[in-house]
Amino acid sequence: MAGSWINGTPVETGDEIHPIINPATGEAVATYKSATPADVDTAVAAARAAFDGWATATPVDRWAVLYKLARLAGEHAEELVAEEVGQTGKPVRLAREFDVPGSIDNIEFFAGAARHLEGKATAEYSADHTSSIRREAVGVVGTITPWNYPLQMAVWKVLPALAAGCTVVIKPCELTPLTTLTLARLAREAGLPDGVLNVVTGDGPDVGGALAGHPGVDVVTFTGSTAVGRKVMAAAAVHGHRTQLELGGKAPFVVFDDADLDAAIQGAVAAALINSGQDCTAATRAIVARELYDDFVAGVADVMSKVVVGDPQDPDTDLGPLISEEHRAKVAGIVARAPGEGGRIVLGGKAPERPGSFYLPTLIADVREDSEAYRKEIFGPVLTVRTFTDDDDAIRQANDTEYGLAASAWTRDVYRAQRASREIKAGCVWINDHIPIISEMPHGGLGASGFGKDMSDYSFEEYLTIKHVMSDITGKVEKDWHRTVFAKR
Ligand code: NAD
Repeated sequence: MAGSWINGTPVETGDEIHPIINPATGEAVATYKSATPADVDTAVAAARAAFDGWATATPVDRWAVLYKLARLAGEHAEELVAEEVGQTGKPVRLAREFDVPGSIDNIEFFAGAARHLEGKATAEYSADHTSSIRREAVGVVGTITPWNYPLQMAVWKVLPALAAGCTVVIKPCELTPLTTLTLARLAREAGLPDGVLNVVTGDGPDVGGALAGHPGVDVVTFTGSTAVGRKVMAAAAVHGHRTQLELGGKAPFVVFDDADLDAAIQGAVAAALINSGQDCTAATRAIVARELYDDFVAGVADVMSKVVVGDPQDPDTDLGPLISEEHRAKVAGIVARAPGEGGRIVLGGKAPERPGSFYLPTLIADVREDSEAYRKEIFGPVLTVRTFTDDDDAIRQANDTEYGLAASAWTRDVYRAQRASREIKAGCVWINDHIPIISEMPHGGLGASGFGKDMSDYSFEEYLTIKHVMSDITGKVEKDWHRTVFAKR
């Protein structure tokens, strides 16, 4: 299998061989040769050379290629599912019902959106000029993606860029490059010109660092951890390049005393455990009214205890492994330290006895506000619970985090719901649900969760520049305003 995909061709120049480990078994599903910094140069040069042609392609031409890509991805859906399950260990049901169809829907959305891009209507804001707004593709996009939803994260970054007329160099996470490479291969099959989409594989600091700090890249977009996102931003800032960052999260899940308790319990377990909790919007901090607290904790423990942990290939499996042994050790460490900081482990808190980097669904009640488990992004199947005194306290606790990606409020009171949606600081606030996303609506956070949007028409802001065109409509040699310069004439 090729390591990289540059200018429409598989490329393998580096010496370093990366295994792709299936975390459910600990065994390699594939190996590849990592890109070199010279490959990054070649990929950026290919994207630069392809830019003029792609940026000036008509919207319908771009739509035709991207729509065909969606069709091809549909035809290869099972191949994409198999690759995603093999490299991440996620349950096959999740890959088949969420990752792959969600990605295809997003490709379809941006194919269509390519035909809706428009500048602003032309108008006269001065008596002597006509003004118009052109929105033009910004250039070469360098993008870096994580391992939790490898295909979806690639699609969220690549598709709006391509629809806007930009060309792209993407570096997927070194653990999970397979579906991104397949996406690039399918895009070529769909008719995407060579050089418009390039993939460089390899580790973060060497290959990702070379891309983020590359002088030939116009915009750097990133999905991943807050710590790395800030490094990427610093590297891009050296050249004054624009960045877009989708970073970590620590989503609050606020349950008011009038909530439908069963719905909140069911919703909390689903939203905490999706993708083994390796989801930036996962419910992580349940903040529950005193009146419902004990029943909520008991109900969540009951539903969590019935979750099927097992072989990701089995359609009945609910929870697969964490991405790696290293990541499991990080999750286990935070959970192990929780009791020392006041947390009560109600369920889980350990790995099951089986091969692979599995970790059991874990519920920690009574967490302190200053504890690590409550404040730090764990990125595992772990839900913490606290109570609150009144609505002001609930909102205060929801906002008591450096992150601001997602949140939910559970209530049957329309005024409480409106207050929560207004006052909770996050890129998305769900009411009586937590997790659903949709291609037409934006995803992206604030604070330590980053800035800028993926999905929806809003994401085009990252990939377009706004140009004001001001045309004289008088035909005069001496314009009226020249009097301010040539007073004596
Ligand atoms: P990570 O930050 O470790 O890695 C992300 C990517 O950055 C990988 O491709 C990695 O190789 C690369 N990288 C690492 N060091 C680099 C460097 N010095 N320079 C350039 N690139 C470098 O994140 P991860 O562990 O892969 O993913 C989990 C994180 O991603 C979590 O924090 C999660 O919340 C976040 N995430 C956020 C969103 C969102 O939309 N906000 C979505 C998914 C995941």
